[in-house]
This record gives sequence, structure tokens and C-alpha cells, in this order.
Amino acid sequence: KNTIHIIGGGLAGSEAAWQAAETGLEVVLHEMRGTKTTDAHSTTDFAELVCSNSFRSDDHEQNAVGLLHEEMRRCGSLIMRAADAHKLPAGGALAVDREGFAAAVTAAISGHPNITVVREEIAGWPPEDWQHVIIATGPLTSPALADAILERTGEDSLAFFDAIAPIVHYDSIDHEIAWKQSRYDKAGPGGTGADYLNLPMDRDQYYAFVEALKSAPLHEFKDWEKVPYFDGCLPIEVMAERGPETLRHGPMKPVGLTNPRNPTVKPYAIVQLRQDNALGTLWNMVGFQTKMRYGVQTEIFRMIPGLEHAQFARLGGLHRNTFINSPRVLAPDLTLKADPRIRFAGQVTGVEGYVESAAVGLITGRLTAADALKRPMSMPPRTTALGALVDHITGGHIEAESYSGARSFQPMNVNFGLFPEVTITKPEGVKRWRGPEKTMAKRRAITSRALADLQGWA
Ligand code: FAD
Repeated sequence: KNTIHIIGGGLAGSEAAWQAAETGLEVVLHEMRGTKTTDAHSTTDFAELVCSNSFRSDDHEQNAVGLLHEEMRRCGSLIMRAADAHKLPAGGALAVDREGFAAAVTAAISGHPNITVVREEIAGWPPEDWQHVIIATGPLTSPALADAILERTGEDSLAFFDAIAPIVHYDSIDHEIAWKQSRYDKAGPGGTGADYLNLPMDRDQYYAFVEALKSAPLHEFKDWEKVPYFDGCLPIEVMAERGPETLRHGPMKPVGLTNPRNPTVKPYAIVQLRQDNALGTLWNMVGFQTKMRYGVQTEIFRMIPGLEHAQFARLGGLHRNTFINSPRVLAPDLTLKADPRIRFAGQVTGVEGYVESAAVGLITGRLTAADALKRPMSMPPRTTALGALVDHITGGHIEAESYSGARSFQPMNVNFGLFPEVTITKPEGVKRWRGPEKTMAKRRAITSRALADLQGWA
């Protein structure tokens, strides 16, 4: 009765299985590879890395993912233990020997006395007699299970593609250029009539921008990755190809907005940004989903007046990706509102990346074990990287109505924009506190607060 069933032995499922089994409970890990594969995996190992072999920066003072590494280590993470044991030289990054890494995870899981591995696809809703379940089937969840999730959670609760507009750190926007105003000053539900940041362009700037979009190299897709275009959700470079004025009549239309610094001159086009998290630290570029390569995106978006020094929390993209509308369907403890026996973990919850997926596996493994043992357990503190990820998943994110009427919850990597603010004071004796030093001090304050606050929870 206390057995924990975990579906999917990827980054999240392996970590969840390990965390739960370490409490002494029985765990059954159901993994379909061995009987059926996905379009991206090529082995039957647990925690196979399907693309890059990098866990990104390992700097836990100055980098949010580095902090997440450290928090996971302090929570006894199997994924981090295997990564550290199979580390390759990669400067400040944590890159791993992918075969050695996956083999180590596979050996640890298969050899754990409390874990039973079953090689099978779970092709429908988990059976009623499974009391404690974690679904960690990833961005390529098998279609049969995806259908069952869709049926249980509702039509608009499961996405099969992410159409992501770039997200910018608020304090990297030039507020001498941007102004706050909603189109026609309309205050939607909960709005003020000044909910958007607007960036004006003159005719020359607009035409140069359109030309740059047209010549930008695109991300190349594998056949199975090909994304269907929905009207109202077209990549901006596709709109630019349709004609030089198309964007001005779409997401960049200059109507219903007046630049208070230059009220008599109408901008030729306007880029709008909308708040993306409750803290107001992250803003997304409305309607700017794109398939342009990452490097070129940064270059082209910095052509926009006010974004010359923009720092991107994430760049735009269009990918094959199965994920649930977590803020709507999950409770704050990550259980499914429609069936509280079930938790979700990994990329399917709307986090992005190997480390983030494993991190959500770690949290759900522990929470589910606590439920099975009937022991109360709190969520990781909001000030930790683990807590910041949970907050992103369960509703720190704002469900604003969007330009295309499309869902606004989109997967995201861990980043400093997800953490609550810290106050820092200028060190004594320092006359001028310059930008980069101040940023570094702020990051240090966030990361040391996180590690201190994690202690009790870990
Ligand atoms: P996975 O690691 O995919 O694990 C899910 C597991 O569930 C799989 O083993 C699958 O076989 C199994 N499964 C699926 N359905 C069923 C079912 N019905 N029954 C039983 N088992 C099932 N992130 C990065 O950080 N860096 C990258 O370079 C990167 N590249 C990516 C490339 C591609 C093509 C894709 C699709 C994603 C990439 N990601 C990358 C994103 C993401 O971090 C990884 O997909 C990561 O593996 C997600 O971890 P997960 O545990 O959620 O899912």
C-alpha cells in the first residue's frame, strides 16, 4: 500500500526513485525503454542525456543553476553524485562523460534493494490501486499516456509544443526609453491600464530590424521535431517573410499607445513586453516566438531601442515538448488537483533542462515518500533554487491573457529572476559601486541566503 510507483526513468524519475527509496520505502520504477523508445533516446540506460553533455555552470555563488547543483548535492542527489563522479574538464561548467554518468545512475537504481525496475510502457491512467504515483515521462511522454493525461486534466491543460517568446530581466531594460501603458489604457482583469512596457521604433529602425530577421539563420529541426504553425502564434521571422509591413500589423502594431516623452510623434512600430512573474523581475516580449538560432537572437533583439543592453532570462524557441499547465492543474504541493495520488516531476511540469528536471524529481520523491509515511513535510523555502522552481511551476507565474490568446505558462530554466529580491548595502569605503560589482554582490546575497535557508529543509 505504501509502494511508490514512478513512471519514467529519465533525469527526474531516477532522482525521485532514489530519494524515495532512501527513506526505506518500496519503489517501483516503470520505464518503457527496453520495450519501446522515444525519438530522442538511443539507449536503455536511466537518465540518458539526449543532447548536450553539460549541466551548465557549476558556480554556486554567481549562477542560479550552479546554486541548484549545490542545493541538490546537499540533499543527497543521485544525479549530482553521478555527475560529479564522471565530470570532464569544461572550465566553470559541469560537463559529464554521458555514458559513464548514465551507467552510474543505472547501476545505483538497479542495485538499490528498495527499487524494482519494470520495463513497460504505462499506456493509460495509473491504476486505482497505486496510492502514490509520480509521472516523470518527460518532453516525449508516450502518446498513449499523454492522451490519458489530456482526458484527466482537460483540453487546454497539456501542450505538445512550446512557443516561447524571449524573456528579459527587467533591470536590463532601458527605462529612459520604455514607458508603461496598456493599449488604449485598457485595464484587463487585475490590470492597471499600464501593464505593458513599450519600446518605440522609427521607420528606419523598423525596416533594419525586419531585414535582420529575414536574413537570420534558423535552428534546424529533425523531422519529428517539426512544429506546426498556428495562426496567432507564428514565428516573427515567418511574419517578416510575409511582407515588410506584416509585423507592424501584428505584434508590433503602434496603435493605442502614446510615448509620453514624445507625444506628438507616432512611433512606426512598437515592441511590447509583459510581466512574466509575480516578482516583476522578468518580462516577456509579446508575440516574439522565434526559431532563430540563439546567438543571433541576442544580436537582433538588442537592435530594439531600450534593449541595447538586454539580458535574456531565456531566448525564444519553438520545440516539441509535452508539458502540463502546472499553475492551473497542480496544487502547491505538486499533487494533481484532479487526482491527489499523483504528482508530476521533470520537464513535463514546465521546467526546462536536465538539472531542473532532476531537481523537481528530488522534491517530488521526498514529498511523495513523506505522504506515504504519513509525515508532514514542508515545501523547499521560496528563497532557495529548489523553492524558486516550485514557485515557477505552481503559480508564481502570472496567467495573463496574452496577445494571441495562447497559454502563457511556458517552460523555463532556473534563473535569478525567479528569486525574491534581496536588499544589499554598499560596502563601507566604496565610493562608486559599479554595475557588474553590484550585480555580483546581489547574486552572492541571493545564493548565500539560499544555502542558509536550505539547511533545515535538506
Ligand atoms: P526524460 O529524461 O526524457 O525521461 C522521461 C522518461 O520517461 C524516458 O526515459 C522515457 O522513455 C520514459 N517514458 C515516456 N513515456 C512513458 C510511459 N508512458 N511509460 C513509461 N515510461 C515512459 N536539456 C538540457 O539541459 N540540455 C540539453 O541539451 C537538452 N537537449 C534536449 C534535446 C531534446 C531532443 C529534448 C526533447 C530535450 C532536451 N532537453 C535538454 C530538455 C530536458 O532537460 C531533457 O529532455 C531531460 O531529459 C528531461 O528530463 P525528464 O526526466 O523530465 O525526461
